[in-house]
Amino acid sequence: LVNRKSINGNTIIDLGNVKIGQGYFTIIAGPCSVENKEIIEETAHFLSELNIKIMRGGVFKPRTSPYSFQGLGKKGLEYLKLAAEKYNLKVITEALDEDSLKMVNECADIIQIGSRNAQNFGLLKKAGKLNKPVLLKRGFMMTIEEFLYSAEYIVFEGNKNIILCERGIRTFETKTRNTLDISAIPVLKKETHLPIIIDPSHAAGRSDIIPDLIKASLAVGAHGIMVEIHPKPEKALSDGKQSLNFGKFKKIIDEIRNISKCF
Ligand code: PEP
Ligand code: MN
Repeated sequence: LVNRKSINGNTIIDLGNVKIGQGYFTIIAGPCSVENKEIIEETAHFLSELNIKIMRGGVFKPRTSPYSFQGLGKKGLEYLKLAAEKYNLKVITEALDEDSLKMVNECADIIQIGSRNAQNFGLLKKAGKLNKPVLLKRGFMMTIEEFLYSAEYIVFEGNKNIILCERGIRTFETKTRNTLDISAIPVLKKETHLPIIIDPSHAAGRSDIIPDLIKASLAVGAHGIMVEIHPKPEKALSDGKQSLNFGKFKKIIDEIRNISKCF
C-alpha cells in the first residue's frame, strides 16, 4: 500500500492552511519538550512571527533514562494546545503508548510515533485506526525496508495520512548522536508515495551542524524538516545541546527561504 506504484501521484497531507508533500518545503519547529506555559507560548509567538505553521513539543517523552525529565503529560498537552490556538498553529506531539495515543489524538493535528516505537506494531495498528495524520519516525536501528513495513502497518488499518521522518540511525560514528542517512530520502522517494521529512536535531545531537543539515535536507529533496528550538537551549530540560536558539534558527530559515519556497 505504501509502494509508489499503488497510487498515482503522491500522498499530500492536508492540514488546511498548510500541506506536507506538495512541492514546497514544510518547516516544523519547537522545543524537544513542553516545559511550561511561558516557554511554549513564547515559542508559538516566535514561530507565528516567522510565518511557520506547525509547532512541535513533546509531552510524553521517551527518555533513555527513567531519571530524566519525562514530560508534563496531559498538562503539557493543554499548554501546547493553548499556545497553538493563540497563534493559529498546528501541533505535532508524540504518543508513547495506547493511553497517550488517545489523548494526543484528541488534541494534536499530527500524531508523532517516535524512533523507539517505530516497530511497536500494536501501537502502529492503533494509530492506523485513527483519522489523523501520523508522523512516523525511522527507528534508529531500522533498515529502509523495515521502515516502510512499519508505515504499511498503519496504512493497512485504513489511515493513509502518513509522513515519514528520517532522524538518523545508529552507526559506529561518535561525533554525532546518530548518522543522518541522507540517502534514505531519494531512496524512499523512489519507493513510496508518502511524504518524507528530516529531523536534523536528533540525527546530529549538536546544534552547531544543524544549519548545514537543514541545507542538505532541502538539497536532497526532502519535503520538509522538523527542528528543535528553544529560547535558552542551555537551560532546556531535554535535548538542549541539539536545540537551536531563536536567532540561529531565524538565520537559517531566512537563508533557505531565499533559495526555495518554504512554509
Ligand atoms: C522527539 O522528536 O522528541 C524524539 C524523541 O525523537 P526520536 O523519536 O527521533 O528520538
Ligand atoms: Mn528531543
